[in-house]
Amino acid sequence: MHTERFAPSPNGRLHLGHAFSAMLAHDAARAAGGRFLLRLEDIDRSRARPEFERAIEEDLAWLGLQWETPVLRQSARGAAYAAALETLRARGLLYPCACTRKDILAALDAPQEGGPDGPVYPGTCRHSPPDPALPHALRLDMAAAVEALGGARALADLTFEELDRGPQGETGTQPLCADWLIGACGDVVLARKDGAAAYHLAVVVDDAFQEATHVTRGRDLFPATPIHRLLQALLGLPTPLYRHHRLIRDAAGRRLAKRDRDAGLHELREAGVTPSEIRARVGLP
Ligand code: GLU
Repeated sequence: MHTERFAPSPNGRLHLGHAFSAMLAHDAARAAGGRFLLRLEDIDRSRARPEFERAIEEDLAWLGLQWETPVLRQSARGAAYAAALETLRARGLLYPCACTRKDILAALDAPQEGGPDGPVYPGTCRHSPPDPALPHALRLDMAAAVEALGGARALADLTFEELDRGPQGETGTQPLCADWLIGACGDVVLARKDGAAAYHLAVVVDDAFQEATHVTRGRDLFPATPIHRLLQALLGLPTPLYRHHRLIRDAAGRRLAKRDRDAGLHELREAGVTPSEIRARVGLP
């Protein structure tokens, strides 16, 4: 059954960009007679706040959206993430990394543009394992992951379907590219130093758990999707269809951020804007 999820991080209030994402997913699920699910990505315990969780649900309800309960919270999913990490570890695809951001920047030969997660990790701890007593993250050995899936040629047969568009107009069937994964993404973090699962791992495990058939999210996340497709292949999880929608921008053309108060749903509601005006503002019927 067509199943969509909206997966906000409760570390701030929702703005017009979130409303657009949630309404697109909700409309698509309703049109297909399918399901609309909410997932609170509260994995970053230092930033997630219960008052933002309540505010998110309040704003979504005000928009007229309905979702199934109970709501999935990533903070309750530690065991599932640990099992997925163990699968990858047993295949020899993870290694501990004690580097700080500063260490990583210092180890880079030249400033880089960076991939979906910023500067590509130079592999310091892959070459020389850190003292196990130090707090460490777990990284995916990307080159080993490509090999585990049969090498660069076999990887090109792994695809995902883009129902909208990527930032360069990419649409339709998107094959994975080993060079890009190794060169532009590199050894991404899958478990953080505080022990929590990192975004890429949690999102893949939870999309499968929630049986999401469709992932509707902002175009800024398009570059993360090949990483998610790779993890699905490694973990034996199904691949949903992806729709990376255009980003909602402010009057100056900048992407909305949580600090943009004038685009906040709460502020707009207080100012007397109606849910149907919100729909019109983001270009939805
Ligand atoms: N929690 C992510 C965010 O708020 C959403 C990730 C996703 O939809 O995959 O940006």
